Formats: sequence, structure tokens, C-alpha cells
Amino acid sequence: MTTNWFDDSHPAMLEEKLENGMVKCHLSPRNCVIAEGRRGFCGVRANKDGNLVTLNYGKSVHATVETIETEAIFHYAPGDRILSMGNIGCMLNCDYCQNWKTSQARMVNNENVFRYTPQDVVDMALRHNIRVISWTYNDPVVWHEFVIDTARLAQQHGIKNLYKSAFFITPEAIEQLIPVIDIFSISIKSMDPDYYKKLTKGWIQPVLDGAIQAYKSGKHVELSTLMVTDISDNEETARALTNFVLENMGPEVPIHFVRFHPDYKMINTTRTPIPRLEQARKVAKEMGMKHVYLGNVYDNDAVNTYCAGCEQLQVTRYGLNAQLVGIDAEGNCTKCAKPAGFKVFQEPAKPRQSVDVLPADAQLTNASYMWEGDIKALHVQVRNDTPETQMIYTRRVGDATVPTEWSIIPLLPAESHRFIAAKSLPEEQGVEVAIPAGIHSSLHQVFDRAHFPTTAVGEGTLNADATPLPAFKGVGLS
Ligand code: SF4
Repeated sequence: MTTNWFDDSHPAMLEEKLENGMVKCHLSPRNCVIAEGRRGFCGVRANKDGNLVTLNYGKSVHATVETIETEAIFHYAPGDRILSMGNIGCMLNCDYCQNWKTSQARMVNNENVFRYTPQDVVDMALRHNIRVISWTYNDPVVWHEFVIDTARLAQQHGIKNLYKSAFFITPEAIEQLIPVIDIFSISIKSMDPDYYKKLTKGWIQPVLDGAIQAYKSGKHVELSTLMVTDISDNEETARALTNFVLENMGPEVPIHFVRFHPDYKMINTTRTPIPRLEQARKVAKEMGMKHVYLGNVYDNDAVNTYCAGCEQLQVTRYGLNAQLVGIDAEGNCTKCAKPAGFKVFQEPAKPRQSVDVLPADAQLTNASYMWEGDIKALHVQVRNDTPETQMIYTRRVGDATVPTEWSIIPLLPAESHRFIAAKSLPEEQGVEVAIPAGIHSSLHQVFDRAHFPTTAVGEGTLNADATPLPAFKGVGLS
């Protein structure tokens, strides 16, 4: 008998029992009242025998090693590798969702669901020398119990927790998160209440209140706003967001204006013109914000960090990669010695081991993928089907300026591992992966940051500059 991902459940927090076996969920501001045998709006919390349960505890898309820049976090450990964890369901239903294959519970297939315990996640992070776990993709709000259990365990091992969310969440749920979350990357979709109702099926005030609550907790907060072409990619958005931040937080909070790409129900809307993003950034800076960035853009100085005091270049970025060039180990500017507004680890990140030349006797199979159009990042998924530890090799491909050494990723027997390879230099043309026999592998095109692709690259889609496949076929799809 086939087991579906939603067949088993786990007790849920933030439950209120009502009369007649009904339960009320206080996790998101919807406060769904759920009858026996039914699910809430998110599709992953249900009433089972008069109790509120969660259907997605420990159920995840494939854990993925990425960089912290993937999460619109630029001022906390720049360039560090993170372990990205995404799950199933969402308390919103945005018309442009780039993770709709996992955020909309009714679209989720069993083959995209992996099961992890909190210990599995922490062990994975420790084994790959990762210092930050990121709760991300669809939205961690609806994974509340698993996030809290795992983040608490991670803390005990010195691992930080990053929460990337649209933050449509109740104050009491935020209070439960604050002790275990170190970094909040909050996506304020728009400053327009009508936009929220129409495009996200949520409402704005809880998001704004929640952002203030997270900021007041003293945790690291960065904000981002998707600039949807011809809808919100204008100066009014920039002014309203900046006013909100200046009135409730401060000019030092980094904000990100993020480029839109067509997806889900909005495949006929074009990408945001970069001059509109640049104008939004100009407006926010003129109003007094110290760190204003553009997201999902390449070859643009608006992704770098300069000292707000002496204008020394402090961090260079390209795509989802970053290099510290003007910050010391204490997070101060190397030129004027003033605090640079960064949180950095005292110890530099441990790089992966590497070799200049592939071992001759390893009998490796090489695959390459060349960057093309809007595809400038790839998830590489590998699984070791042999009884021994195996080494995977990966490197960048480009002109003579691009480093040619091979990074090594060790894979334990039966281990399945997924990592991002993202274009890191203008001169870089692609990525090459070398795998030994007995390793199952697949490549997945990544569209912009915090996108979890579910479909592997197949024949005919290589190097295609297109919307992620498969395309959304309609609201009634089950
Ligand atoms: S998390 Fe939100 S959408 Fe899901 S059941 Fe609870 S209140 Fe409803």
C-alpha cells in the first residue's frame, strides 16, 4: 500500500480546542477553525480526533547546501555556506510563487518529500562544516514544531538558525521562535494592503507587526521586497518601505529590492527592468538608508557593500557568492576601524578540501552545465549507492582567470546530498561535476534565490532560458 506524505501526523503547537470537536490554529493570522478530519488553509495542519496536528513534521524537500546570500542576508557571515531546509505548504498563496510545487500542499508529490529527524539535520550540518541552518523556501511558518525542535538542537552544537519567511505569523508564534532563531530574513511583499489581499491572499498588518517584533528582540533582521513588474516596482514602494523601516527600526537595517521573474500564475509578466530597481535603491538611500541592495541581479555594483563611513569596499558579491575584502574578524572596517554593521564568525569558514587534478584511478564520469540566459545557478543532487565513502568533485569552468581546482565533497554510504553551484564571476561560463561509479546524480536549474527546483534537467531543457518546468497548469490541478 502506498504511503502518502500526509498519512502520519505530529501534535501541533498553538492549538485551541473549541466545542463540538473543532480546533482553532493560532500559528498564522488566519486562525483557521478546523473541523474533525479537515485541514487548514495551509494544507499541512489538520484536526485529527479533535486535536490540532501537523502533517509535515520532519517532511522536507531535499536538504541543500547553499550560501547565506541565497537568503537575502548580506550582513551576517558573508559567503558562509548554509544548510537550506524547506518543507511543504504555506499560509499564503502568492500568484507569483516560485516554490509553488512545494508551497501548495495539494501540488506536492511523494517523490519530492524526504524525511529527516532533528538529529539528521544537525548531523548533516556538522559533517559538512556548516554553521548556519536556514529555514526557507516555501515558508518555515507552517513547519513550526520541526523548526523549533531542530533549531534548539542545532543551538546546542553552536549552529546558528536563519528564518527566511513572508512572516504572516502570529505574535505568540514569533515569541516561540525568538529563543532559537538568530537571523530573520523577512519578505515584506508590498506596502500596499490591496496588493496583499489580491496577490498573496493574506493581509499586511501582521507582517509589519511581526517584523517590528523580530527587530525589537535584538536578533539580526534584514528585509526584502519583491518588485513585481508594473505592479510594485516603483518609487512609492521604495518610499513606503523606507518610511516603515526608519520609523520602526533604523537606517542600519539592510533592505533588498528583489527582481521578479515570471512563475506560477504570473508567467506573462516580464522580469523587473533593472533601472526601476536602481531607482528604488536611489530613493531609499536618499531617504537615509545605509545599506540598500538589489536582489537577483548580476554585474551590478548595488550588490556590493561599502563602508557607510569611509566608503571602503567591504564585501564584493556576484550572484549568490560573497567575499570579504574590507572587514576584520571583529566586523570592523579595515580602513576606518568603525563597526561595519556586520555579524561575523570569529573563525573563518572551513573551505571544502580541493585538488588541482582529478585522481587518475578514480574512473570518474564528468558532466558539465554552461550558464545561459537567466540560469546562473544549479542544484546538484548526488546519492551514494555504494557501500563505501565516495568523493564527488566539482569546479568552475571559464577563462584563464577562473580558478580550476576541484572541490571535494565526501559522501557516506547511502548518503544523498544536494548543493548549489552558482555563477561567481563574470568570466565563469559553467560548472563541471565528476562522479565515481555507483553515484546517482541529477541537475536542477535554479531560478533566482531561495528557489527550490523539483524538476531535474532533462533532454531539450539544457541551457534553456525559460520559466522553471513544469509550468503551472491551472488552479484546479490536484
Ligand atoms: S498555519 Fe495558518 S493557514 Fe495553517 S491551519 Fe494554522 S492558521 Fe490556518
